[in-house]
Amino acid sequence: MNVEIQVNIKPKDSLFIGGGSGASGTGVDSATVRRPDGCLIIPGSSFKGKLRSECERIARALGEDICLSPKPENMCPHYFLNDEKGMCYCIICKIFGSPWLKSPLSFTDLIWQRPYFHFKPEEWKRIRKTEVRPGVSISRYTRVKIEKALFFKEVMNTGMDISFEGKITGNLETTKELALLISGIRALLSIGGMKSRGLGRIDDTNEKYRVIKPDYSDSKLEEELKKW
Ligand SMILES: [Zn+2]
Repeated sequence: MNVEIQVNIKPKDSLFIGGGSGASGTGVDSATVRRPDGCLIIPGSSFKGKLRSECERIARALGEDICLSPKPENMCPHYFLNDEKGMCYCIICKIFGSPWLKSPLSFTDLIWQRPYFHFKPEEWKRIRKTEVRPGVSISRYTRVKIEKALFFKEVMNTGMDISFEGKITGNLETTKELALLISGIRALLSIGGMKSRGLGRIDDTNEKYRVIKPDYSDSKLEEELKKW
């Protein structure tokens, strides 16, 4: 079945999606990801990764036997090789792929949209879209500060009624896969890092997605999930 889903993510507060280049010489350890034209984005790969873990959580809650990402040796098809299922892929790998199976879906980058009603294009160019925040690394094991581990991260200022838009397109085999994917989008409450510092929460009041293809109603998808 042909799938096309429009995604619209509206952050509630500042957003940290590191991994951008151009950080050298600026004193920033982790910069925001930009397109070559300077536009801020949430990379499709980051969005896909976040959505995958959300779908994994839901699938497990529904009692589905799924593999253990992200270690390749714990993922499909290895995960099932030792039981009677043999060479097969779990529902999560069928949607998002595994190191041995290409995902049937592609995830575009989510592009920062200018809030048209608030800013003219020339005003928008002058708006400060990111800021640099200092932080201190804490040891994951002992929960104490690591010596000389002060770092600087660039975060996106998103308190301006902005949104990030992108698309998921491709093919899925079953309505069950589609229902799980959509439940994952619905359940997304945050994106990006530094969540413990209050960054990256997603506004849940607006519609986060629109299913363009296939022509299924929400109630049909909910029915599908109830069958699980
Ligand atoms: Zn799997």
